[in-house]
Amino acid sequence: MEDLFARNRAWADRMRARDPEFFRRLARQQAPRLLWIGCADSRVAANQLLDLDPGTVFVHRNIANLVVHTDINMLSVLQFAVEVLAVAQVVVCGHYGCGGVRAAMAGRQLGLIDNWLRHIKDVYDQHAEELAGIADPGAREDRLVELNVLHQTLHVARSTVVQNAWARGQKLEVRGWVYAIEDGLLRDLGYRVRGPEEIGAIYRMVGEGVT
Ligand SMILES: [Zn+2]
Repeated sequence: MEDLFARNRAWADRMRARDPEFFRRLARQQAPRLLWIGCADSRVAANQLLDLDPGTVFVHRNIANLVVHTDINMLSVLQFAVEVLAVAQVVVCGHYGCGGVRAAMAGRQLGLIDNWLRHIKDVYDQHAEELAGIADPGAREDRLVELNVLHQTLHVARSTVVQNAWARGQKLEVRGWVYAIEDGLLRDLGYRVRGPEEIGAIYRMVGEGVT
């Protein structure tokens, strides 16, 4: 633990040497343009892999980057990011080799977490035919990682927070990316939602509710 504090001091010194005003400026405000919803996996650290300083990305992470519309934690982050920080982009970023996705594909009980991972099983079930057609287990897992991102991207867009932002005329785009731990590179999966016409009729709501 001592070592962690020493590392922190050294980092703060380096940042100040580079930009003496850095922390003072940061203390006054944050102005991130991006909300990152990613996996809690220690190898998928948003700021580091984007090579961005503190203050640039608003971050929410959980196991397997899930967007569950009853998750008050995620919804609060989303609301604050969209309504107060007025981010222009929400990115859901999954990653290949995701332990959560892998566990969801296996049939063994792991405990409480099974209830969280059920959301990934639901994605699997909706694409069971396509996934069954992929013979290689690794390729099948990779595809489920991508499909999971697709669904979570839609879940963000279907939220009342995002729908209300669009109704107010706020420019807001939801994107789905995937990260490969093996080469450190991000891939744009091309999943983009830019307006209510793309979220499915049943999810569209008119009139501003509580969020
Ligand atoms: Zn993961």
